[in-house]
Amino acid sequence: MKIICIGRNYDAHIRELNNETPEEPVIFIKPDTALLRNNNPFFIPDFSNEIHHEVELVVKIKKPGRHIPVKFAKDYYDEVSLGIDFTARDVQNRLKAKGLPWEKAKGFDHSAVIANFLPLSVLSEGNNHGIDDCHFHLEKNGEIVQQGHTKHMIHRVDEIISHVSAYFGLRIGDYIFTGTPEGVGPVRPGDQLKGVLAGQTMFDFSVR
Ligand code: ZN
Repeated sequence: MKIICIGRNYDAHIRELNNETPEEPVIFIKPDTALLRNNNPFFIPDFSNEIHHEVELVVKIKKPGRHIPVKFAKDYYDEVSLGIDFTARDVQNRLKAKGLPWEKAKGFDHSAVIANFLPLSVLSEGNNHGIDDCHFHLEKNGEIVQQGHTKHMIHRVDEIISHVSAYFGLRIGDYIFTGTPEGVGPVRPGDQLKGVLAGQTMFDFSVR
């Protein structure tokens, strides 16, 4: 199992970090040791003073594939979830300034929170209209800090799967984080983070 993440996929988030809009999806990978599930608490690592939350839609791959055309990408997933791509922003800024890889800032232990998966059909309920037109948000201590709408993705889920699979063979059970909307910010010990996708609470856990 691998965890594939897409960076810089929402314009407003690119602007808040003063990044450039990429011509093709920015990809990085977290190891399986990054997983954090079942509402277990997140412990802030010693090496960072600036851990940011990035709430993201997550899809789970259900069959193996490589070089998948966009029009067939839908055959490769039927479950979705919500996750947090925890980022050591101070470490990332130091690495970016030197043009170095981001792994220490992005792939550390428990940096990939993933809630339980739901069938894709939940994204067509209420005021949601499928994976390319659905709402999600993150609450920190009861206050909404990030709100996402997948119609604002620069690269849609099917394009992401197609692009990723040209470089990395996909296997059953791989996860893809699809990028964060604006509103990223720091977490501190004692914070409570709750994620909501299409009106359903997906995760609710504490930071320590
Ligand atoms: Zn992210």
